[in-house]
Amino acid sequence: MHVIIIGSGVAGVSFVEKYRTLAKDADITLITKENDGYYSRPLLSRGFTKDDIEHSIILKTFDKLRDSQINVLSDTEVTHISRTRKTLTVRHAEQEQILNYDKLIIATGSKAFIPPPYRPFNELFFCLNSLTDLKTLRRVRATLPKPHWAIIGGGLIGCEVASDLATAGDNVTLFHVMDRLMERQIVPEDSVLLKQVLENSGVTVLLNQAISSLSKPEEKICITTDTAHEFDAVIVACGFQPRTELATQAGLAIGRGIKVNDYLQTEDESIYALGDVAELPNGKLYAFILPIRSQALWLANHLAGQEPQSWSPPVFTTKAKVHGFEAAHPYQV
Ligand SMILES: Cc1cc2nc3c(=O)[nH]c(=O)nc-3n(C[C@H](O)[C@H](O)[C@H](O)COP(=O)(O)OP(=O)(O)OC[C@H]3O[C@@H](n4cnc5c(N)ncnc54)[C@H](O)[C@@H]3O)c2cc1C
Repeated sequence: MHVIIIGSGVAGVSFVEKYRTLAKDADITLITKENDGYYSRPLLSRGFTKDDIEHSIILKTFDKLRDSQINVLSDTEVTHISRTRKTLTVRHAEQEQILNYDKLIIATGSKAFIPPPYRPFNELFFCLNSLTDLKTLRRVRATLPKPHWAIIGGGLIGCEVASDLATAGDNVTLFHVMDRLMERQIVPEDSVLLKQVLENSGVTVLLNQAISSLSKPEEKICITTDTAHEFDAVIVACGFQPRTELATQAGLAIGRGIKVNDYLQTEDESIYALGDVAELPNGKLYAFILPIRSQALWLANHLAGQEPQSWSPPVFTTKAKVHGFEAAHPYQV
């Protein structure tokens, strides 16, 4: 049996490692656009206070996976799924190749969500969603003496990035459209505490901010709300968007993510989805490390014939990686 997994995040890598131990004879191919190895995505938001982050963030090299007889095609993009032929089209270094699968697992994760009003200005801001993004931001930062950053979005990632840049010594202004920070995850009392912690670390927090435009009249980036503010660089951190394009093109059912049943199976019985890209029948996406790892291990056991029960989410919580902040009340996930 040839099992192909698309994506080398926690979903894809946890699955292949477990499945390799259970299905000794299976052909396992992991296809990924990445080239640096399997890395810790949560550590991206600590990427400005750790000098060696570009190395220490790597959890496993692709060669290490290859040592376990997992065929890793890195720097390779899946561009098309043919469900009738059960094939994938993949592209590496301008060369296309067709691969056959018996079972396909889509673990393509998510990209940064850019709210529609900001899309016309996408040349003027950065995101922090991948190691490539972090490397770009670190390069930009190295060219600017004590830069002044604008972070747009006061959710989990926006607060973490603002905190890390300020702790690294930069000037930071955080714009949030709502009247309190991380309103989806923490109670109002903790939002007040979080704002104090960020302000104490030097972040200027601006709430109730409707941004009408971004522009670059000269060297600086100008953000216009009811007044105009100037910055050296801008990061948009407004949530995530599952990468559903391949599944859409293959005619699979899509909601916010790729729709799966409680067995993580799409409407095509040969195709599964897990991780940030998968939408469960309750309408939820479990976009956190702990439940994703649980999905991956569960699916490996299930495909190896060792797990007849459906997947159910484990009890889990999250925690903002803001320097010096501890919420007094449990997070909502
Ligand atoms: C800055 C940041 C901080 C976070 N902090 C936390 C935290 O503290 N705790 C927590 O629980 N979660 C955190 N998260 C969320 C967590 O990291 C994600 O939920 C998780 O990493 C998703 O894993 P995944 O494997 O589903 O997808 P991803 O990690 O997105 O991996 C998807 C992979 O698929 C590849 N891919 C996509 N399309 C193709 C294609 N067509 N062909 C080939 N390859 C493709 C991508 O290159 C990538 O390697 C954070 C996320 C970010 C961005």
